[in-house]
Amino acid sequence: ELYVRKNVKVNYIDGSDDKKWSKKDFSWTKKLEANNKKVFGNHSFRPNQREVINATMSGNDVFVLMPTGGGKSLTYQLPALICPGVTLVISPLVSLIQDQIMHLLQANIPAAYLSSNMEWTKQQDILRDLCSGHCSYKLLYVTPEKVAKSDALLRQLENLYARELLDRIVIDEAHCVSQWGHDFRPDYQSLGILKQKFPNIPLLALTATATASVKEDVVQALGLVDCIIFRQSFNRPNLRFSVIPKTKKCMEDIDTFIKDNHFDECGIIYCLSRNDCEKVAKKLQEFGHKAAFYHASMDPDERASVQKMWSKDEVNIICATVAFGMGINKPDVRFVIHHSLPKSIEGYHQECGRAGRDGQHSSCILYYSYSDYIRVKHMLSHGSIEQSSFASRSTTLNSGRVLETNTENLLRMVSYCENEVDCRRFLQLVHFGEKFDPLSCKKTCDNCSKTHTLVDKDVTQIAKHLVELVKSVRQEFSGTYVLEVYRGSMNQIVKKNQHDTLKLHGAGKNVAKGDASRVLRHLVIEEILLEDIKKSDLYGSVSSILKVNEKKACNLLEGQKTIMLRFPSVVRVSKSTTTTPAKGFLTSSKQTPSRVDTPAPAQSQPEVDSVYSNLS
Ligand code: ADP
Ligand code: MG
Ligand code: ZN
Repeated sequence: ELYVRKNVKVNYIDGSDDKKWSKKDFSWTKKLEANNKKVFGNHSFRPNQREVINATMSGNDVFVLMPTGGGKSLTYQLPALICPGVTLVISPLVSLIQDQIMHLLQANIPAAYLSSNMEWTKQQDILRDLCSGHCSYKLLYVTPEKVAKSDALLRQLENLYARELLDRIVIDEAHCVSQWGHDFRPDYQSLGILKQKFPNIPLLALTATATASVKEDVVQALGLVDCIIFRQSFNRPNLRFSVIPKTKKCMEDIDTFIKDNHFDECGIIYCLSRNDCEKVAKKLQEFGHKAAFYHASMDPDERASVQKMWSKDEVNIICATVAFGMGINKPDVRFVIHHSLPKSIEGYHQECGRAGRDGQHSSCILYYSYSDYIRVKHMLSHGSIEQSSFASRSTTLNSGRVLETNTENLLRMVSYCENEVDCRRFLQLVHFGEKFDPLSCKKTCDNCSKTHTLVDKDVTQIAKHLVELVKSVRQEFSGTYVLEVYRGSMNQIVKKNQHDTLKLHGAGKNVAKGDASRVLRHLVIEEILLEDIKKSDLYGSVSSILKVNEKKACNLLEGQKTIMLRFPSVVRVSKSTTTTPAKGFLTSSKQTPSRVDTPAPAQSQPEVDSVYSNLS
């Protein structure tokens, strides 16, 4: 039978507003603190961990938004340990579950998992144990399709429930419930049955990405009624962000930057390929730095020894692929340098997040060239790129359209790099559904601390054309596509779809590509254009398309509204000027990436798409 969703009125309570959850006089506080130290080896709690634990231990339904690496697992593993029964955890991927279980078993916490592709006899053993008098597991992990399809599991859960041994239900990666999220999983939709069957068991939903609409979707689908929400800003005030054009002198730039700003301090340099890691490390050694490299094709002993040297400060710079970093908790990483383009804004945010865990000022510098974009794109389409477990997670979930999603993510990263005007924090955070006031940046990113003058340009005509184009492609296409048509691309896909768009095809061929995409983004922010989601196949994967918001667009189309945007005035710094940031100040006189050693984007190359899809 199908579980039908009812739209119930939800009452959200903002947990961060309530001091009660930070209190240290709950009956479980002593036990909690002791086990956090003894079993998990933590000296203290990270932001919101104590609060979330207290709220869920008090019996409430709780929704947690916490950045990746923020420590969400502890908020249910620690309660599981000190409660008498079993905690049920729903997690999307067997590989993630296995990783968690390995850590739990290492800490002597009994845990097991059930998944459909496990041997049936093994599943039966675990189910039998659950209904035995002395259930030996503290945590039971299951994949969502188990809940949707296994009557045997539901019967065992009812059995536990009847014996009052079902402590808590945890939905990890809860954004998978929502089609608006980037990892939609149809099986998550049937999880509403849990609240129906076990209405008074506290439910804990955890995620690192949720816009307002994703949150709404999750809360509705899971059937939460009075739920307490904890969310923290994804902004990292102690990190400074800048993007620097990558030239042939990139290694000299990096050397100067480190010597001027972080001499003998600890840092990570993310490189695209294994070969790059080795080359960059060698070059830095020549410059007199204590550098080493780290990538997935080294044998485990070698990797372990590099990690050890790094944690003991015997080397202070690691040149690594994104394979380095998961589970790295060195607090005093003073800089993260991207030697080439990251694959997505999420990935970039996460990699930068490894800097400054101790709260001290740290630098995040990205060396950008358009030719790296071509390189990354090529590597993505040939599957020859190392993945962090974070990246591989999202690709596995979207297997049907891996490449398309990857390209879309990469284009957003390009758009971020080419943006010379907007606050870097604003651009990153908007991606996580967080509105950030650029004034709060206080000149801690390159764009905010630019001194060059900005000029207001009237972009009404461009805006009008873009809106008309969205209409004439029947509101069925993405921003990328609209920009391609506007700038006159003869790309295959554009040619194939030649409907009545010809009138405006190429109308913007003289508009700089960055400018056109900024106008498009602005139209999305102003809600003149709306980003909608189109479901495209059985797997439930979705793509974003643009629609016209008639109510707001008519003023523009009828000529009653002008749109002004600020652009940097075109004073280009000559190529010979150094691109190394001045001492103590992370912004350089910003150049446009040198088009001398990077191929100019050909017309058939895709345009940069909006970075605002998560704006809610
Ligand atoms: P998330 O699920 O939010 O991405 P995890 O739960 O996987 O994050 O935790 C990330 C890392 O942080 C883990 O290595 C974990 O051991 C560590 N960690 C979690 N809480 C604490 C804490 N209070 N003190 C120190 N380290 C912690
Ligand atoms: Mg997690
Ligand atoms: Zn800024």
